[in-house]
Amino acid sequence: MSEDVAMLYDMATKFLEAEIAPRYEEFEKAESFDRDSWRKAGAAGLLCASMPEAYGGSGGTFAHESAIMEAISHVGVDGFGIALHSSIVAPYILLYGSEEQKRKWLPRMATGELIGAIAMTEPGAGSDLQGVKTSAVKDGNHYLINGSKTFITNGQLANLIIVVTKTDPSKGAKGTSLIVVETDEVEGFERGRNLDKIGLKSNDTSELFFNDVRVPTANLLGAEEGQGFVQLMQQLPQERLQIGATAIAAVERALALTIDYVKERKAFGKAVIDFQNTQFRLAELKTEATIGRVFYNDCVARHLAGGLDPVTASMAKYWLSDLQGKVVDECLQLHGGYGYMNEYPIARMYRDARVQRIYGGTNEIMKLLIARSL
Ligand SMILES: Cc1cc2nc3c(=O)[nH]c(=O)nc-3n(C[C@H](O)[C@H](O)[C@H](O)COP(=O)(O)OP(=O)(O)OC[C@H]3O[C@@H](n4cnc5c(N)ncnc54)[C@H](O)[C@@H]3O)c2cc1C
Repeated sequence: MSEDVAMLYDMATKFLEAEIAPRYEEFEKAESFDRDSWRKAGAAGLLCASMPEAYGGSGGTFAHESAIMEAISHVGVDGFGIALHSSIVAPYILLYGSEEQKRKWLPRMATGELIGAIAMTEPGAGSDLQGVKTSAVKDGNHYLINGSKTFITNGQLANLIIVVTKTDPSKGAKGTSLIVVETDEVEGFERGRNLDKIGLKSNDTSELFFNDVRVPTANLLGAEEGQGFVQLMQQLPQERLQIGATAIAAVERALALTIDYVKERKAFGKAVIDFQNTQFRLAELKTEATIGRVFYNDCVARHLAGGLDPVTASMAKYWLSDLQGKVVDECLQLHGGYGYMNEYPIARMYRDARVQRIYGGTNEIMKLLIARSL
């Protein structure tokens, strides 16, 4: 961490501890954050940290985004969907948007007025994105969008959604286009259920329906239609690294909480940490956490230098999220029955960890991508 990244990490931690952590239970119960929290995060400089200042951002890099994501995990407010907003949705606009699109959307994303989502997955198309059926048909200088999406993060709150569509279904992947829908400005857009998940409760995840949604052709990302699949493939390494960031930070938090707990908890007249089994388990987990941290930091350094290849990014996503699952499970075991009680943070961490192996491309798909390079 350079000095300014470390300062941002401290500032984010203080903000999250003061403004978000005290209300986190409320958000978990409501199964959603509120808009006010997003606006406060915007005012504190936590949204679009890596977007240029000219577009309302803080002019940072992925290292700055990573510091914010790690602060979110370390503080234990993992359901705050900032990472997707700032380091997945905003970069699509920055990298593929026209000057007009950037000026129109990025400053409002930086304040939290616009909350971002990306809608790829459909009931019939998850791992195999080529199967996307949502269509965008040109009608004068508008597109008519029809289709349905599911499992969309920030889906209840988002008012700027990048929708993966087929502008030419006959061309398969080459007929895929990304179109921005500003939901406050269109008719025919409906949000379905806020989906009932086993973890990450405070993060709204939804079905979305598009029924003849009319958006200007100027909302297409990229100079021409058919670029969507390539754009998605180009951005996936950063998306995968982002999951790695959350994973390694959760590993570190789980270990810190557990080390504190086993020092306090007594059994058979001694502290649980005095059992050799506890020491050996924690020694192993700490070693793996250190390996994970070194690997993650190396991936970030390579990404900042422009050289993180998709295969290594897939390794980071798969291995770090697997590690998170393993560490959180073993840390819960060392808490005994208390680990199974929701009032202990490790219980929530256990539930929240599970999805990391599924979204952003399942870990099986990551292994396929790695295997293809062998
Ligand atoms: C909480 C949550 C948030 C999400 N957020 C978003 C979001 O914001 N935007 C969005 O677009 N999507 C989002 N998703 C969707 C997510 O990316 C998909 O669930 C994921 O890609 C898997 O797709 P699927 O659920 O259709 O599973 P399927 O593709 O049906 O996979 C089922 C099983 O088959 C395996 N499998 C599939 N193909 C292969 C293969 N070729 N070889 C070996 N095994 C295979 C998978 O690994 C999995 O184990 C989210 C999902 C969840 C749960």
